[in-house]
Amino acid sequence: MKHADIDIIKTAVNPFYSAMKIHLYYIDGLLIDTGPFIRKRHLIPAFKTRDIRQVALTHSHEDHAGMARWIGDHFSADIFCHEKAVSFINKTPWYRRLFSDQHLGFTARAYPDVIRTAQYEFLPIATPGHTVDHVCLLEPNKGWLFSGDLYITPYPKVFLKQESINAYIDSLNKLMPYDVNTIFCAHEGFIHNGKEMLNRKLDYLLNIRRDVTELHQSGFTDREIKKRLFPDKVRLELMSFGLFSRLNLIRSCYRE
Ligand SMILES: [Zn+2]
Repeated sequence: MKHADIDIIKTAVNPFYSAMKIHLYYIDGLLIDTGPFIRKRHLIPAFKTRDIRQVALTHSHEDHAGMARWIGDHFSADIFCHEKAVSFINKTPWYRRLFSDQHLGFTARAYPDVIRTAQYEFLPIATPGHTVDHVCLLEPNKGWLFSGDLYITPYPKVFLKQESINAYIDSLNKLMPYDVNTIFCAHEGFIHNGKEMLNRKLDYLLNIRRDVTELHQSGFTDREIKKRLFPDKVRLELMSFGLFSRLNLIRSCYRE
């Protein structure tokens, strides 16, 4: 699949549940995110037909960074991530330590100020919220924003425990000065009217944070707030067995 010069590699995050997809973007020798290790049989052939010279990781979650090591071992590519993710991503996993003769050529490095390819430039922009080590990549001349897991939906109702609504709001504010035409989301694919959609998400999060904080300060419990603001069941909450939850989102509004 292609969008302009952007080559999209799309696969299910998990072979046992095909509804949730991950999108990797390949432009001009640069691969943005690498996909989960569990999808290696699908991803390796896709990587082998491309000339990967640089890799940009949006954050250290396994569905984004899981194949970075394989790429590092099979391509002479520069692999970049947020400085907070460097030691985590470079750590040799236990199953590799079992085989002492493994070739360990892989090292990820902290992002430079700008990543250049033959035709484009990409600005890494630290955008915490989903994780502390989250980075978006912006092609400023094209208005392309590779948003990792920052965007996904403008109206999230569930969060992971570590997600921070304050950090999301700060990150979205940080992106406001840029002309974003198209968002390239790691899970939802490409989204038009990028700037407007980022604005929608920012407004929504500001409103939610205000409403939750007011109720919390008036003495409502988290469960009462949930009943008022998010009365409907959320699919992702059920599917993730509560890893993503409405209560996590509510607590993040007044925790910090
Ligand atoms: Zn993630």
